[in-house]
Order: sequence, then structure tokens, then C-alpha cells
Amino acid sequence: MDIEDTLLMIPGPVKVPQRVLRAMSKPMISHRSADFEKIYEDCRLRLRDLFDTKNEVVVLSGSGTAGMEAAVGGIIGKGEKVVTITNGKFGERFTELGDRYGTSVPLDFPWGTPFDLERVKAALEEGAKAITMVHNETSVGIVNPAKEVGKLARKYDAVFIVDGISSVGGNEFLTDEWGVDIAITGSQKCLAVPPGLAMVAVSERAMDLLEEGKGGYYTDLKAHLKKAKKNQTPYTPAVSLFFALQEALTIASEEGFPERRARMAGLAGGVRAAASSLGIELSPQVNEHTTYSNTVTAMKMPNGINDSQLRGGMRKRGVGVSGGQEGLKGKIFRIGTMGACTEADVLRTISTLELVLKKEGVISSLGAGIEAASRAIDA
Ligand code: PLP
Repeated sequence: MDIEDTLLMIPGPVKVPQRVLRAMSKPMISHRSADFEKIYEDCRLRLRDLFDTKNEVVVLSGSGTAGMEAAVGGIIGKGEKVVTITNGKFGERFTELGDRYGTSVPLDFPWGTPFDLERVKAALEEGAKAITMVHNETSVGIVNPAKEVGKLARKYDAVFIVDGISSVGGNEFLTDEWGVDIAITGSQKCLAVPPGLAMVAVSERAMDLLEEGKGGYYTDLKAHLKKAKKNQTPYTPAVSLFFALQEALTIASEEGFPERRARMAGLAGGVRAAASSLGIELSPQVNEHTTYSNTVTAMKMPNGINDSQLRGGMRKRGVGVSGGQEGLKGKIFRIGTMGACTEADVLRTISTLELVLKKEGVISSLGAGIEAASRAIDA
């Protein structure tokens, strides 16, 4: 199947709308021009709405990890501790970053299981400069309790750093209300821009702690914030991606940020309903401390089919879905419903899944999945 005809239903990068692709093909401009400043200013203002914050937002040229590195490297130095809560792949990245710049105090929970807030509290009681968590853990398709961790961070005066890379714009993400000091998202997820930009919202409290020349050079958050006051970037930014970001934010505002989240919630609900009707178990399952994600759904590989048959069969029929990462390889598969994803995209995905399952003898008839998905999306 031609790459152009493939429907990308992975949890990022996602399908990019034509308007955004066209915006990217505009002629180049100087990044030191008033034209660029206008674009950056417009993006920064709209990103505040997206993050639900009054804080400053900067845009870094680099993928989401650049934003995570800017946050940890800017706050944590040699001999300083950061509590890193982990229940999936991306939480682990914060631990690695913490150890690169200072000392991580990892709180590891099995992938997909809820945080034990008593352990979080106990770790903060020992004293730490910052605490990190992933809001929407993409590797397991669950949303972690940022509000509760935020309360503890405030109580113990730790800078609260949250990876909202696959969450902001898709799940509710209340930067100010939850007391998030540094919130990060990435362009290739809910905004439906190609990969390559990291958006970082920084509180006054965090800004006061950032020191000149600390952390990464290219990802120096203080340098980015300083330049952003004049709607400039310290180094040559990925200008075409800024064109794309501005157009994507226009599209998102036209739809409305809450309406956009509600659409993604409906689509993820559709995937879950289809899974249940096809006898596919959600994995992991949520409990009172976690919720299912609007942006990615993780499911157990059904009995009678393996990863290459399921995902390969779908790919052959023009639909790309993700597998499990690391220890979950071959055990789960994941469907993304973020960005510009539509009901038709979900129904095509589910009908393709059904076709593959029937071909491999996992189900005996077609239709139950799309029936359940369309009913759930309409509800
Ligand atoms: N954090 C989360 C929750 C993610 O989903 C991802 C990417 O999938 C990342 C971090 C890493 O972002 P990037 O690959 O854009 O550097």
C-alpha cells in the first residue's frame, strides 16, 4: 500500500491536515523578521489557551523530548534531586534525564499501574527540588492523576514538571489549576503538525529557578524565554513548522479546544466499545486512580493472532496501528485517536481490524466492531 494512501492511526505522528501541509510549503522568511515575530506571538498566545495557562509558553525546535530535556536540565543541577514517577516508557525518560543533569529519585510502578500517592508523598518528604510525571502515558494508554501529584508538589515545594506530550489538546490539561510549573507538549500529537516542535509552558516560580548557562545549550529554557519576550528564538527555528503550528492552532480554535477534546474522547470511546464487542481486552485496565486516554487506546493482542499478523495485516490494507513497546512488544497493540482523527477514520480502522481478525479465524463474522464503535461515537 502506498504511503500516501495509508491511514496513520498510531499515537503520533498523526495525519496532518492539508491546510497545515500547505502552510508548510510557504516561501521561506527570515527568522529575524517582523513576519516571523508575528507568527511566533500568535502561536504563543493561542498556546496559552491550549495549555489553559497564563504562564509564558515557548516553542523549541526539536521533538517533545527536547522540551523534557529543557525542563529537567533547566531546573536540576549536580547534587540536586528530582523525583521521577514512572508507570510507562516515557516516565523512564525523565529518570534518565534527571540522572544526566542531577540525581533522579525514581518511583517506579509497573507499567500501566496507578501511582501510589503515599509513596510519592514519602519521596517528597525526603526533599527534592522537582518532581516529574507523564500525564498521558502513551505506552500504556492511560491518564495519570496530575491534579493529585500537583497538590503534593506544592505542599513540599517541589517544581512540578509534567509531560503532556500526548495529552495537551486531547485530554483535559489544566496547567494553572493543577499547579504545573513546566508543562510540555509536542507538535506531532494532538495538534496534528509534523514532528519537530516542543511547546513548553513555564510558571513564574520555575522561571525564577532557571539559571543562565545551566542545563543543555540548545535547550536552555532561560535563553528561550528571554528571546521569546521579543517573539524571537535564540537560534534559527524550524520556520516551516512554525507556519504549520500557526495554521494548526487556527484549525483547533475554529473547532474549539473543548469541542476538539470531546471529539477525541468520543473516538477513543468508539475504539473501546469496538474492542469490547470483539472480545478484545483493554490492557491495562484503569482503576480509581487512572482514566482511559482520549488520545490512545491500548488493547491485549487477541488469542489466535500475533503482532505481525495483526499489524502487518492492517498495514497491508492501508491502516497503521502501533504495537507495544519494550516488555509489551507482541502483547498489546495501540490505536491513536488524536489530532484531526475522524469518525470515518475510526470506522475504517475497526473494519480493517475486523477483516484481519476474521481472516486469521479470531472472529467468525464481520460488523460487531463498527456497529459498537459508531453507536459509542454517536452517544
Ligand atoms: N512523552 C510522551 C508521553 C510521548 O508520547 C512521547 C512520544 O511518543 C514522548 C514523550 C517523546 O516525544 P518525542 O518522540 O517527540 O521526542
